[in-house]
Amino acid sequence: MSAEFDVIVVGSGAGGGVVAGELADCGRTVLLLEAGPHLTSADFKRWEAKASHDLYWPLRFAPLPDGDVLTFLAGRCVGGSTTINTKVALRAHERDIAKWHPASGLTNEGGEPFSRGDLDEYYARVERVLGVRERRDWEQCVHTAQAGFRALGAELEPVTSYTDAKCMSYGSCLQGCPTDGGKSTMNTYLARALAGGRLVLRTGVHAERVLVERSGGRPRADGVQYVDAAGERRIARARFVVVAAGALNSPLLLLRSGLENRAIGRHVGLHPLRLVYGLFDEVQDAHRVYPITAHCMKHQTDDAGGFVIEASTVMDPIAFATTLRDDNGPFWGARLVEALRSYRRWNGLLAMVNDENNASVSLDADGAERFEVDLQPSEQARLGAAFGFSRKALEAAGARQIAWTGLISTHTQGGCRMGDDPQRSVVDRHGESHEVKNLFVGDASLLPCTVSVNPSLTVMALATRLAERLELALSGELAVT
Ligand SMILES: Cc1cc2nc3c(=O)[nH]c(=O)nc-3n(C[C@H](O)[C@H](O)[C@H](O)COP(=O)(O)OP(=O)(O)OC[C@H]3O[C@@H](n4cnc5c(N)ncnc54)[C@H](O)[C@@H]3O)c2cc1C
Ligand code: SF4
Repeated sequence: MSAEFDVIVVGSGAGGGVVAGELADCGRTVLLLEAGPHLTSADFKRWEAKASHDLYWPLRFAPLPDGDVLTFLAGRCVGGSTTINTKVALRAHERDIAKWHPASGLTNEGGEPFSRGDLDEYYARVERVLGVRERRDWEQCVHTAQAGFRALGAELEPVTSYTDAKCMSYGSCLQGCPTDGGKSTMNTYLARALAGGRLVLRTGVHAERVLVERSGGRPRADGVQYVDAAGERRIARARFVVVAAGALNSPLLLLRSGLENRAIGRHVGLHPLRLVYGLFDEVQDAHRVYPITAHCMKHQTDDAGGFVIEASTVMDPIAFATTLRDDNGPFWGARLVEALRSYRRWNGLLAMVNDENNASVSLDADGAERFEVDLQPSEQARLGAAFGFSRKALEAAGARQIAWTGLISTHTQGGCRMGDDPQRSVVDRHGESHEVKNLFVGDASLLPCTVSVNPSLTVMALATRLAERLELALSGELAVT
């Protein structure tokens, strides 16, 4: 069967957007399949309900043992979650990357344990493309929070982010950036490739399975079956297929394609977070700032507590109202009305904790997706410590009421682990499936263990590395059979 494209990429987020953009830049024919729509800054308004419908996957939940649920948030649009995220851009700590070799046997090109040094040149390239810069432009709500951190012997520091000088600091990042100051893969890698006419983008398209040729030798991927925006089932063929549908969807796509590696969908990391809010006497307007200008890294490593706190942010009114809770349970009735009347006086911290990669994604007997979370005592301890610290910091800053959300995962990672050991990983050190040749994974599902900071820069660095590898193969500099 002749290939129409050099590469088909499924998913246009942090991983797929970078792979597709980089390869198109090299002059390769790339077909990019994306489930969501192609909306741009001209379409983005701070209309929370509409953005939730247009730009996000419908909410997905995993049950928790106490009857509560953990909520997954992810983008479904061109640019994927990078179009609706807060754009904090951080390199992973070397201690986080050092966990990868013990977890999956991952080594570098020289056969040594994979380390941060193996990613640095790719981090640097992504930072250049996205114009990563430091955010010292703290509004009053961050200074208010800082007083609470200092009272506990901790310090807020500026974050770095992929937001340029066009950022108006008005806080609508989760509904898409209306100024293009926030850099997604949509308005950088993909906009450039599309303007150059080098990329074929099909949106509103659901990839159903990777096509695997199983006759003779090792099975080999040669295309993708998808349902197009008009509901027609179609097939596209390529020399290489890159699955980059995000950490929840990529394992499901591999399973639906008939792959059997037992590590698929396992070792999923949630990097669970919750928002903790404090009600102040003075107006905070924490919804009218670039959402995360600062963070506290004092407890980042496992032995220092295993959590990172970001400041200052509150969710927009619908999400705020529907997730607010305290020791008396979810806010409802008069309590909820009162909390919303005071919306401008709430200040918020985002507390996220290191995890043990024990969650899983699978298909049930009917072929439906299933998410399981198995929180370990160490994770529970970190969640408790992160919550306790956030609460005390807000109280020390002057908050007279505290409320919080349930557990949320926006930084889901793993599920198609990269590693040298096929028993403990799904793809090899280059991202190629241990089971099916020419099938690559290029997104957050690659990470053998979660990193303790926001992961998108790491996902994009890995995707840059994968694109480099594929370009070598396509140009004939690497022998491929
Ligand atoms: C609200 C929010 C805030 C965040 N803030 C930050 C932050 O400040 N800094 C940071 O580093 N990280 C942040 N993240 C996380 C970061 O955005 C993700 O880690 C990163 O985007 C993951 O990249 P990915 O390529 O794996 O998946 P995604 O970026 O989610 O892209 C996957 C894409 O695949 C598409 N897709 C899925 N299935 C199919 C299918 N079957 N067919 C076709 N297309 C499909 C999806 O529609 C989606 O567009 C945030 C995430 C969220 C949700
Ligand atoms: S705060 Fe800045 S990056 Fe976020 S949506 Fe507004 S302009 Fe864009």
